[in-house]
Amino acid sequence: MTARTGLVLDKLFARHDTAPGHPERPERCLALVEYLEREGLADKCRTVAPERAVLADVACVHTPQYLERLKRACAEGEPYIDTPDSSICKESFEIALYAAGSAMRCVDLVMAGEIENAFALVRPPGHHAEAGCSMGFCLLNNIALCAQRLLARWGLTRVLIVDFDVHHGNGTQHLFEADPRVLFFSMHGHPNSFYPGTGYEHERGLEAGSGTTINCPMLPGFGDDEYRRAFYEVLIPAAESFQPEFVLVSAGFDAHQDDWISRIALDDSSYEWLSRGIVSLAQRWARGRVVSLLEGGYNLDALCRCAAIHLRELLAAQSAA
Ligand SMILES: [Zn+2]
Repeated sequence: MTARTGLVLDKLFARHDTAPGHPERPERCLALVEYLEREGLADKCRTVAPERAVLADVACVHTPQYLERLKRACAEGEPYIDTPDSSICKESFEIALYAAGSAMRCVDLVMAGEIENAFALVRPPGHHAEAGCSMGFCLLNNIALCAQRLLARWGLTRVLIVDFDVHHGNGTQHLFEADPRVLFFSMHGHPNSFYPGTGYEHERGLEAGSGTTINCPMLPGFGDDEYRRAFYEVLIPAAESFQPEFVLVSAGFDAHQDDWISRIALDDSSYEWLSRGIVSLAQRWARGRVVSLLEGGYNLDALCRCAAIHLRELLAAQSAA
């Protein structure tokens, strides 16, 4: 049987080098490559080779001033852009273009019917990046670029973004908060206690996009029960009325209890039901179309195990469809 799950998994993404001691480090990519190959999962997928986005592809989300600034900062060997969190090296702009381009390639392959779903294990991550600046380890907003491509190139009118990274996807929310064609659903640490300090329940979208932003903030110590409630009592009914044509996932694994960056207590089994739930939601409304992009996840063991769990659920969708 031809593989129907695409996978972007490549050591190229380790070439975005961050400062010593930075949590979003090249080893995340290297550990994932080693683990998923050793588990035999990479072989079960269709390899999607890294593809570089052209500037026009990323200029539909980011301002020309920011792109120029980012390109120059990298070329000149600046240690970071905008905030010390967003550590860069000379190659970071190039690798960020590859991350965005590879993610968009997955979207194109799914829309063309060549694969059913895909997981792009790219870095740098993207969901904090705003139109005109970097934030929180993120340079280009990969998930927003995918959503924009689905709207502009593929003519879709109902795209669901599920963001389960422990940090609120402020960039993604801001880019689509006035756009009723994108339903942004996020479960994340409460803004009173967690970076980046946005994602309150009352942030529900603006103007025509009013109601198509849904935030489910989680207090320190929350875990599986609260996530299940948000998923089944908030997301599922919202998806039912929105009827998404495509599901994009900002897949961060930093809400895991073993991840020192958060105080949220999900475990491996949480990522299993969550991934299965997203796949089944996509099968019900979006012909199984899912593209997941890696965001956070800083405990390498938990990251590898949970990314594998997520990938297994994407692979299982093929036989269940
Ligand atoms: Zn995060």
